Amino acid sequence: MATLSALNTSELLYEEKQLYRPSLAELKEVIQSALVKNFENVTVEVTDCPDLKTAEYGLMDSGLGGSPTLLELGGPPYLLPLVQREKLYNVKEICQKTMGGGKILAVGAGAGPYPLRNSNCEGIYNMSISAEGQLKNGSYTAKVSGLEESCVLESIPDTEPRCALLLNLFVCRGEPGQVLKISCKKRTGHLNFIECIRQGLLEKYQDKCVGMGGMFKINQGKAHQHVMRDFSRTPIVDEHELNQWLKFYEMPATLTALGTLITHENDLDLRLQHFHSFSNSNWGGHYHYDTTPEIVEYEAYLNVAERVVRVDKPKETHKFGRD
Ligand SMILES: [Zn+2]
Repeated sequence: MATLSALNTSELLYEEKQLYRPSLAELKEVIQSALVKNFENVTVEVTDCPDLKTAEYGLMDSGLGGSPTLLELGGPPYLLPLVQREKLYNVKEICQKTMGGGKILAVGAGAGPYPLRNSNCEGIYNMSISAEGQLKNGSYTAKVSGLEESCVLESIPDTEPRCALLLNLFVCRGEPGQVLKISCKKRTGHLNFIECIRQGLLEKYQDKCVGMGGMFKINQGKAHQHVMRDFSRTPIVDEHELNQWLKFYEMPATLTALGTLITHENDLDLRLQHFHSFSNSNWGGHYHYDTTPEIVEYEAYLNVAERVVRVDKPKETHKFGRD
């Protein structure tokens, strides 16, 4: 495999739009009424963010406050039908450019840096960048390993600032402050946790675009999640072939998921929701839905974003590979 360096950050196309930003108090009501249609027990509150840096949560900084921003790099068209290996990004530099320097927390879901593993992999991004530009990585890759195709979760070192192909990040200053805390137990509807919130926002705010991000934990139950296999040598042209290529697992709690959701593509070809989770064991991957409605327990901390920044939007796009 040829050694490729990341694309030059200053040469990438940047686009930016302001988002509609309701108060957390209003969002609490909207999200509460959406979730009660899908879960038996629901609590939504506006609260001071707990210290997300503790072992219980595992983030690289304390809070979700300070210029909350959604950042999307690349997209599924760089993976499908065939991989474009040159689509490697320096996430650290792109976050610094997006935030204009200063200290940064960036969490979310994307493709892992395949040169690090010599294989395609999932990326679970959890990075802090100091005002001096020092990267600390709490990020992981998840890959499909060996003939038995087991799921392997591995830490990304501080020396690795890259991702490949596509990434959805919630970026902020990592400051304490108010967030929405959401607790849900016992799923009674068919929507997954994130899609239920997203559709509730869409219904309420209609053509106004609202974006959120942060983390949720599955404290009880199991989730249907995928991990990408190594890059396909033959073109993947539809959802069916994609699902043959992805490796699906039922992963047990505790899972900590990081990512973003937004109500509209906003003329920026945005992915509407994307969360990847890590664990304290071998499990990690892309969240689809829980498989244990009777016993599932979710605990989420989300903040509402001020703006969305779109980087290196594909010129030719398609709509599959976005679930
Ligand atoms: Zn994903």
